[in-house]
Amino acid sequence: MKKIVLATSNAKKIIEMENILKNYSINVDKVPDTFNPDETGTTFEENAYIKAYEAAKLTNLPSLADDSGLVVDALDGKPGIYSSRYESTDEKRINRILNELSEYKNNERTARFVCAMALVKPDGETLFSCKGICEGIITATRSGSGGFGYDPIFHVTDKNKTMAELTLEEKNLVSHRGKALKQMLEWMKNNF
Ligand code: IMP
Repeated sequence: MKKIVLATSNAKKIIEMENILKNYSINVDKVPDTFNPDETGTTFEENAYIKAYEAAKLTNLPSLADDSGLVVDALDGKPGIYSSRYESTDEKRINRILNELSEYKNNERTARFVCAMALVKPDGETLFSCKGICEGIITATRSGSGGFGYDPIFHVTDKNKTMAELTLEEKNLVSHRGKALKQMLEWMKNNF
């Protein structure tokens, strides 16, 4: 069976991706504790590559990385690639976004989750890369207890619910990460 390493130490991301990957015959390893890449890229794509290459070098396995974040139109694309660094906790990050958007009407609160994914070999070669996007609106208050990060304030246009109100399976069907992983697995089925 083919083996890859998941280049993330985010437990929530791992749960989401494993829920999809369990249906495929791919052996998935976790990254060692020493994994601590410097996310110096200026785009989601660059950071996905940096993470995947770092994990591939550490494990000598092909590595699958996701770099993702929330892009808010009224904030000129912020927090974007800085989504995990916008404030020190999820609670503070959400409060900051809600404050920054407090004067904006519903139709001005458009946003999207973006996920860049890359499968990289230990020698640095990118085998495949892809991107998933999920469109939505930033709500005025939190709703739901599922998911992680900005999910409680992200109203998914296609679902009429916040991302945090969806089950894991429902989130995976519409989310940026789920969509990117689907493309990745389609490529892997034929080429890996
Ligand atoms: P990364 O681990 O550097 O890719 O940072 C991703 C950050 O973007 C997370 O820490 C969250 O703040 C945010 N993010 C990415 N995906 C999601 C999601 O599915 N739900 C909520 N927040 C997300």
